[in-house]
Amino acid sequence: MTPSYPVGLIWFRRDLRLADNAALYHALQQCEKLYCVFVFDDSILGGLPQADRRVEFICQSLTELDQALRSAAGRPEAGLITRRGLPQHIIPALAQQLDAAAVFCNDDDEPSALARDAQVERSLQSQGQLLLRFKDHRIFARDEVLTQSLSPFSVFTPYKNAWLRKITPFYLSSYPSERDLRTKLADRPEAERRPIPTAAELGFAPGTLNGLRLPTGIGGARRLLADFLPRLPQYKTARDYPALKGPSYLSVHLRFGTVSIRELARIAHESMQREDWDAQAREAAATWLSELIWRDFYFQILAHHPHVVERSFKPAYDAIAWETGPEAEALFAAWCEGRTGYPLVDAAMRQLSSSGYMHNRLRMVAASFLVKDLGIDWRRGEAWFAEQLNDFDLAANNGGWQWAASTGCDAQPWFRIFNPVTQSQKFDPEGRFIARYVPEVARLAPGLRHAPWLARPLELAEAGISLGHSYPYPVVEHAAAREKTLARYGILKPKS
Ligand SMILES: Cc1cc2nc3c(=O)[nH]c(=O)nc-3n(C[C@H](O)[C@H](O)[C@H](O)COP(=O)(O)OP(=O)(O)OC[C@H]3O[C@@H](n4cnc5c(N)ncnc54)[C@H](O)[C@@H]3O)c2cc1C
Repeated sequence: MTPSYPVGLIWFRRDLRLADNAALYHALQQCEKLYCVFVFDDSILGGLPQADRRVEFICQSLTELDQALRSAAGRPEAGLITRRGLPQHIIPALAQQLDAAAVFCNDDDEPSALARDAQVERSLQSQGQLLLRFKDHRIFARDEVLTQSLSPFSVFTPYKNAWLRKITPFYLSSYPSERDLRTKLADRPEAERRPIPTAAELGFAPGTLNGLRLPTGIGGARRLLADFLPRLPQYKTARDYPALKGPSYLSVHLRFGTVSIRELARIAHESMQREDWDAQAREAAATWLSELIWRDFYFQILAHHPHVVERSFKPAYDAIAWETGPEAEALFAAWCEGRTGYPLVDAAMRQLSSSGYMHNRLRMVAASFLVKDLGIDWRRGEAWFAEQLNDFDLAANNGGWQWAASTGCDAQPWFRIFNPVTQSQKFDPEGRFIARYVPEVARLAPGLRHAPWLARPLELAEAGISLGHSYPYPVVEHAAAREKTLARYGILKPKS
């Protein structure tokens, strides 16, 4: 029998939507009356840069969520309660104030979230209240896809195959979580009927999303999805070319839960089998699903191996000696600021700093360049991405960096090193993406934009480039850097 609570509280975190929300569904099922809260967590806000796009994204998305709650209830009194501070203090105090027997939320396997939730749970229990957690932001959580010997997978392809064998419509179906909102949403106490704070009111720079094509909130996610669906049949061929509109750009919405992973995975899974699509289009859908499975894969890696937050997935790789000192610092700054002299890397890094997004191919190229051309510890790049990416997600970011550094699970062999010039020739053949973000080299002929230092003096002069002045010489020579990296990683060679 489903338990029944007279009053409940739903605590929104990375699930800022009403539709297909697991915790909201269960809360509505189990409570006669439901309050809704979001906490601006000071322990997270405190670590963010002053001009953080994500704060604005959250504020705008919460404004939409609040409006959606009020219109679902049909009463302006029944919106979202927002608080700022530490959830460990706020949630138990609010639950007590509202007399909520249970707090509902969607679970989160990040180590800091687990510690926070454990503390909240203990405080609630000491008050005779419950914390109830539900799986929502991944299809299969930590122990749901295991090897035959019941251990976690550490290699992607067998994980993906097992994921595909296990998937059924049950796991992809939506929660009808909007059904009882009208009757069950409670009116907020008068003191809580405040508008959602703006980024400026939270002490952050306003206007960080101005000029970006980044639609926020539930409505923004719907617009991006509607824009992507007609492009899904071309995903496989277009996704690797940063100058093309190939991917979905939904990552930030998956990060904050303004779209449901079940809905996306269902679309991908059903499209793989569509009889009205040709084989190429069905394969494109399978490729997109595979990317969504990578997301689940890295979540379960983090859940089973939390040491990856600090250290290499493979302990032996912690022995690698990375470059340090003033020269390494100068190289790191050149990488962050997009002035390495390798136009594709610089274009990628400038895309990141100007928009908070970086194309997946470029994340691999830029990460590989930092680790394997500059010899800098992958954790420094990981931290820079964490600060800059709108879609920053600890599990995927850490997984991506450890993949690029070959220190992670399912690593590419460490001796396979991306060449930033050939990557550029292959994936931005006409230098169109480069021209967009590195205008200094845009007047060079397309074929020369990949490596301006190879252009003849006349070609450089005609393009208005003075190497070393208007655009840097390469900060390292790739072939020499490659040799250095092979030696650096060489300590890991098995002894013969
Ligand atoms: C060094 C590095 C760091 C990364 N950091 C992040 C991060 O912080 N947050 C993040 O969401 N992704 C990260 N990725 C994965 C990937 O680059 C982004 O998910 C993708 O570029 C987002 O764009 P999209 O939504 O248009 O992707 P699409 O191509 O449309 O893919 C759909 C979704 O699948 C998921 N996905 C795709 N590729 C991956 C992947 N390799 N690993 C995990 N999930 C994936 C994402 O949720 C994405 O939104 C990183 C990759 C690398 C190599």
